Amino acid sequence: MNKFYIRTYGCQMNVADSELVAGILSDAGFQKADTIDEADIIIFNSCTVRQHAEDRVLGRITSEAKRKKQNPNMLIGLIGCVAQRRGDELLDEIKSLDLVVGTDQYRQLPEIISSCMKRKEHLFADVQNNIENYENIYPVRNKGVNAFVTIMRGCNNFCSYCIVPYVRGRERSRDQKEILREIEKAGNDGFKDVTLLGQNVNSYNDGEYTFPELLEKAAHIRSIERLRFVTSHPKDISDKVIEVMAAEPKLCEHLHLPMQSGSNNILKKMNRKYTSERYLGIIHKLRNEMPDIAITTDVMVGFPEETEEDFLQTYNLMKQIRFDYAFTFKYSPREGTAADSYAEQIPEKTRLERLQKLIELQEQITFEKYQEQIGRTVQVYVEHTSKKSDKELSGRTRDNKIAVFPGDRKFIGTFVDIEIIDASGWTLKGKQIHHTKL
Ligand code: SAH
Ligand code: SF4
Repeated sequence: MNKFYIRTYGCQMNVADSELVAGILSDAGFQKADTIDEADIIIFNSCTVRQHAEDRVLGRITSEAKRKKQNPNMLIGLIGCVAQRRGDELLDEIKSLDLVVGTDQYRQLPEIISSCMKRKEHLFADVQNNIENYENIYPVRNKGVNAFVTIMRGCNNFCSYCIVPYVRGRERSRDQKEILREIEKAGNDGFKDVTLLGQNVNSYNDGEYTFPELLEKAAHIRSIERLRFVTSHPKDISDKVIEVMAAEPKLCEHLHLPMQSGSNNILKKMNRKYTSERYLGIIHKLRNEMPDIAITTDVMVGFPEETEEDFLQTYNLMKQIRFDYAFTFKYSPREGTAADSYAEQIPEKTRLERLQKLIELQEQITFEKYQEQIGRTVQVYVEHTSKKSDKELSGRTRDNKIAVFPGDRKFIGTFVDIEIIDASGWTLKGKQIHHTKL
């Protein structure tokens, strides 16, 4: 029996897609390997959102290719966004690569793998069809307690810096009934914390139901305990969504809301379709409705034509909002996107300096935010023993922070209330006060 191993790079959509591909391959009779060493089919699920991400995965393929010397029947495949962007040219560029399969062609993977094995040929499939939703495939999820459920694929927003709409095609929503069924099954399989996924979940629309309606129904599914969703676009998040979040006990007190920039001038050039005032208005509304909500964000520096003043506006807005955490990026030009042709690209040195300033600011804010948690009682969904000690457990709070505390392995997969007694780095430390439920 041929065993496959999938190494995933990039966002949660890619994690979910790898689980989907694991579902497709398992249904076709292939077996999932626990480690890369056991596999004779190694698949890299790739990210191309920034050049660095693309270089990393391609570099890794080259370094894993030496495994072929020990196992001449081994196949190496590339799927995901780099596969979609670069297509068959990669087969010429990287000789150890046997197959390249784009984001809409995963149903073909078993056939392609079998052909590669039988005929020793190199194959690719990268036709984008803009409709594939991978209905009727149940993903083989990674071990753990958290499940990702894809509710939509693709993106129509064309933010001027972003490659995603080009490699993942047009936005399409999955049927609500299918989504609800998948959530229920995930809960029954022991994944009590479910995250709904899409590039822009707030514009979910399956022709009948919109996002707040889906959210409300999903929050009533009995087999799960916690519900989250990602990613929200500030132009589309509605008051109704915030109301549902505040009203439904299973919806967690966390929102990831990419801000990108604090300068209206840059937001306009990014084609984001909101202003910093509108962004701040959403933050106020969220905090009014849910005082304990954790808010995280994505911010980019060094977008073409970003002046020192534009950057300062981003810096000051972050300082004012005080996110629990921020993913900070320096702009990376992506071929074919609108921003790539903008005249004034910012020098690398300036991009790095601005990035460093934002990182320092956010580290300080995150440190303070975590210190503020000391003394609170929070619920932890226990995932595994901690990396440092098997007498310590690690899990996530409802507001998506990692917490560790002394405890027995028997609590893995259960919910425990702890009191926070310390915080270091991005980790809360606590002591168990009681066991809430299994
Ligand atoms: N759909 C999501 C996120 C997609 S990509 C959204 O709209 O928020 C994740 C993050 O990568 C983005 O929020 C953005 O901050 C960053 N990103 C996207 N393209 C980039 C580029 N060309 N250079 C640097 N960062 C980029
Ligand atoms: Fe990219 Fe914008 Fe779509 Fe997000 S919303 S995936 S940033 S184009």
